[in-house]
Amino acid sequence: MMNNNQPQSRPNRGAHQPNPTRTYSQTRRPTRMSKAEIARRQFIAKCIIVVCMTLVLGGGVFLLFRSGLFSKSSSKKETTITTTAGTVVTTTSAAVESTTEPTTPPDDLTGYTVILDPGHGGWDRGTSYPYNSDQNEEPTITIRIANILADELRGRGATVYITRTEDNYYSLYYRIAEVHLICMDIAKERGILPFSAEREQELRGMLQKIKEVNDNSYDKGGMGFMAGTGVGADLKELFEMEYQLTDVVFMSIHINAHYDETTFEPVNHHGIEVTYVTDDAVNEYEGKPKNQTSGAPVRDPYHGRPNEHNLLYAQTLYDAIIADNPSLASNMDKPVYTANWAVIRKIGLVGTLLEFGFISHETDRAILIDDAKLQPVCSSVADGLEEYFKQIR
Ligand SMILES: [Zn+2]
Repeated sequence: MMNNNQPQSRPNRGAHQPNPTRTYSQTRRPTRMSKAEIARRQFIAKCIIVVCMTLVLGGGVFLLFRSGLFSKSSSKKETTITTTAGTVVTTTSAAVESTTEPTTPPDDLTGYTVILDPGHGGWDRGTSYPYNSDQNEEPTITIRIANILADELRGRGATVYITRTEDNYYSLYYRIAEVHLICMDIAKERGILPFSAEREQELRGMLQKIKEVNDNSYDKGGMGFMAGTGVGADLKELFEMEYQLTDVVFMSIHINAHYDETTFEPVNHHGIEVTYVTDDAVNEYEGKPKNQTSGAPVRDPYHGRPNEHNLLYAQTLYDAIIADNPSLASNMDKPVYTANWAVIRKIGLVGTLLEFGFISHETDRAILIDDAKLQPVCSSVADGLEEYFKQIR
């Protein structure tokens, strides 16, 4: 490698021109140098060589990095590198590809987080088959689905949280508080917590209090600062933190049932339903939330939620599940619809409440009571999550 640190006027080695240094040395009588002087000069010469080599190599490495050759995001087909010696090196795209790391994220769920919420538990038995029996009960089936799904998601690289792992009662607001606390932990770890340490402790205390009360009623304080319609100032702070966590999603897991009101015999509804929330919190089957008479605050709708992501998430999950499990296609008018369930209305994450089928229907029930048949359904849910994240990035 040439060293171009020399001045431009440096004489060509081959030219017979007077060398001023040489001329000077010839005018002096050579003197014998002491061993110490020789060693000192050798040491200085070595130092100069080391400094020069460092400058040349350091400059070369700097230019290689600037050229983008080692950059993860390099998309150049051809890279031109000018070395310190003025040498121009042109690399082909093949050479760039061989030294460049993959530019696109993996297609699996590595780096993504899913919070699963198995519905009901404890004294809250949800639905069952036969009607109002202690067989094929919703709390045990939702836990089984959550566990199979969690294994599937973790196998694809996701981080999974589960709000309930035992058959105990946890109020809706307990679960919601848990989701907010998980999100605070994630935001804190990433250094993007949008409030002071003092405010963080205050919010954590309010959420812990809701968990301690563990009751859905307004009068007992189980809703805490999340009581009422719309979004209050405290909840808005948490929402805005959660809107930043686009790689974290929420899924509440439930199963359906439909019985005739007089005979308690199953009605012919079957298939999955995937619900999502919008700012107006309108339930497409039931209309707007009812006016509350409990005394809880009534607020205007808060606009800021990523509505289009919620719809995309719900629709992508539905499409993925029925693509490989056609018997779970719904015979309802609209199986993907907006709903105002508290667990998705009171969080800022993109989320869904997913009904995994009707326990009252024979075909759906055959899947819901058999782990081996639930496995491919959970695999399809994971496919849907991969597709959702691929579409929003
Ligand atoms: Zn349920």
